[in-house]
Amino acid sequence: MNSQSLQASYPLKGELVNHLEQSLHEDIESARLSPTFRAFYQIRGLLPIFVRQLLQRMRNQSADTSLDQFMPQRLIEFMDKEDVTLNSIWPNSAEFSLVLSHDVETKEGLKIIEPIAQLEEELGFRSCWYFIPYKYKTDPGLVRDLKRRGHEVGVHGYNHDGKLFLSEKIFNSRVPGINRAIDELGATGFRAPMVHRNMHWLQQLNIDYDASCFDSDPFQAMPGGVGSLWPFVFGKFVELPYTLPQDHTLLVTLRQTTDDYWRQKLATIRRLHGMALMVTHPDYLDTPSRLKVYGDFLRYLRDETSPWHVLPHEMATWCRSLTGHEQSNDQSNSDYAKEE
Ligand SMILES: [Zn+2]
Repeated sequence: MNSQSLQASYPLKGELVNHLEQSLHEDIESARLSPTFRAFYQIRGLLPIFVRQLLQRMRNQSADTSLDQFMPQRLIEFMDKEDVTLNSIWPNSAEFSLVLSHDVETKEGLKIIEPIAQLEEELGFRSCWYFIPYKYKTDPGLVRDLKRRGHEVGVHGYNHDGKLFLSEKIFNSRVPGINRAIDELGATGFRAPMVHRNMHWLQQLNIDYDASCFDSDPFQAMPGGVGSLWPFVFGKFVELPYTLPQDHTLLVTLRQTTDDYWRQKLATIRRLHGMALMVTHPDYLDTPSRLKVYGDFLRYLRDETSPWHVLPHEMATWCRSLTGHEQSNDQSNSDYAKEE
């Protein structure tokens, strides 16, 4: 498969679609690991944790900490230059849409799911939890419980060793295992570890949607971004790019202690009637002060905004219906909840 054989389809109209397609194809062409990162992932498993943390700290210290780099600058410039005004595309003309998600990185992270899920529920939110199938054991009771309470579950890579996208051969060898995990979990969505991505290889997964892309994020091993604040169909799946900085980036790399950056990026998403899609990790919301930043932002969302708030699998279904790419089964998550 080459990049010409798969078309992207956006729930939007006009010149903006051409602009987004161009940004997407540039990201597809450039989303590769640098030789340094390739070498790093080959030996990562052998490095003591303190060496990995030291390398991370050295990288963070040289980081530009401005929010500008998380803004979809090309999109904003295009909109201003072409004088594009967008109306809301969301149901009930909501100003923007909101999707919450979490990648569960470690077995310690599993234990922090409950306080986060409770916090979300108290404030009227639900989210999707992506589990790593071959790193720690996920309790089926926990999965059933989350679904019963209105949350969603998905699959986060294979074993999170950073090697999934090192070669097509490695990726292909792991596809059956990932598809088995998707089936066992009753999931319809996938997010790759470290948001490594290859939009063509990913077509082999038995998924309704993928969530491994982002609009703009310079802090990833495969930096760049697809430049879209909206979901889109690509080949067999719907792509749901995240559009707010990840918690690790905000709280660790950028050393923020408030939700101010999230609010500022959200202001741009609201203005453009985009999708606010968050990725946070129970593993990094592991202290009261960090969890408070997330809670503050959720309270802000509840009190100051009225988004169309849905789960990722619902967003995927909506995107398919609006673009005329309906798929027959979107039942897995709800079916699983009914099994007792
Ligand atoms: Zn991860």
